[in-house]
Amino acid sequence: MNNYFVILAAGKSKRFDKNIAKQFYNYKNKEIIDHSIDKSLNSKLFKKIIIVTNKLNHFKKKKYPNSIKIIKGGKERSDSSLIALKYLKKFKPKNVYIHDAARPNFSIKLLKNITKNLKNNKAVVPIVSSKDSIKYKIKNQIFNLNRDNSFLTQTPQAFRFKELYNLAINEKNKISDEATLFINRNYKIKFIPGENKNKKITYLNDIEKSKTYFGIGFDIHKLIKDKKLYLGGVKIPFHSGLKGHSDGDVILHAIIDAILGATRKKDIGTYFPNTKKFINIRSPKMLKPIIENIYKSNYSINNLDINLICEQPKVSKYRDKIINSISKLTTLNKSQINLKGKTVEKLGLIGKEKAIACEVIISITKYA
Ligand code: ZN
Repeated sequence: MNNYFVILAAGKSKRFDKNIAKQFYNYKNKEIIDHSIDKSLNSKLFKKIIIVTNKLNHFKKKKYPNSIKIIKGGKERSDSSLIALKYLKKFKPKNVYIHDAARPNFSIKLLKNITKNLKNNKAVVPIVSSKDSIKYKIKNQIFNLNRDNSFLTQTPQAFRFKELYNLAINEKNKISDEATLFINRNYKIKFIPGENKNKKITYLNDIEKSKTYFGIGFDIHKLIKDKKLYLGGVKIPFHSGLKGHSDGDVILHAIIDAILGATRKKDIGTYFPNTKKFINIRSPKMLKPIIENIYKSNYSINNLDINLICEQPKVSKYRDKIINSISKLTTLNKSQINLKGKTVEKLGLIGKEKAIACEVIISITKYA
């Protein structure tokens, strides 16, 4: 794993109408640049992650792991890219990935696909087709570009370090991406499918065209002997478990319904009916496709608030474990999840430890 990830964040954001530099603007509950940092870290594909910026002060108060290095950038994007390559040379990297901080929405899956293709290629670049018709101008003449033969390049773009370094150091012109260097020399590039959601955020409008929704979820299951108890995906030692077609995890079921509510997608029974196919299904397996689906559609969860209603077990004893588990299943930060325990003064079925109920409220933002 001799891979290095470079995040270019030295842009002046001329088209971004705000006093704050674009890469530091809050987007989906964190700064735009932190999306790229977190994903490159979480992918575990890189020895070092290099952030190239002209706002070194901004990073002083941040706590990053040692594998992250912050260096000062240049005037243009291509200057910053070359500065990063020169900085990296002493580490003798095999591969280098160059990424624009203004693209926070790529997936770790894309990173892995790039890496796989880099084994047998010296340059791998993700592309998408253009939805707009493209024209170009030479002197005063306008030409049509055949849309079927044209495509748009995205980042991250990945290269054999040596090749890219030699091309970059000899380039005299401003370039807008590293693929340009390979194309100008007629060097082979492996193009792979990019991601439509991996758009470059250029205008403030791209971010502010967002809408926030709320969803509510409720669930209750009967407690029965000889079944394991699962709450929030955690196995809890207890005298009974929750009866149901699945493992009866009331917390995860209420979360699923809250998500479906906020995204206006009906209810849990629509996707997981009481059929043979789902008998004894574990609830994390039910939550996973629902979560993947909303992230794919550019929804972002702001926070989750959970009321677990039961006499026993005591929530305080398992709170951290359950929040940890939900954080893993949803990829939310623990600070976005709250879990409250609520007893019912020994009243009714729940009070007599014959059932456990849960209610959840969620806030979700849909980004353009
Ligand atoms: Zn249920």
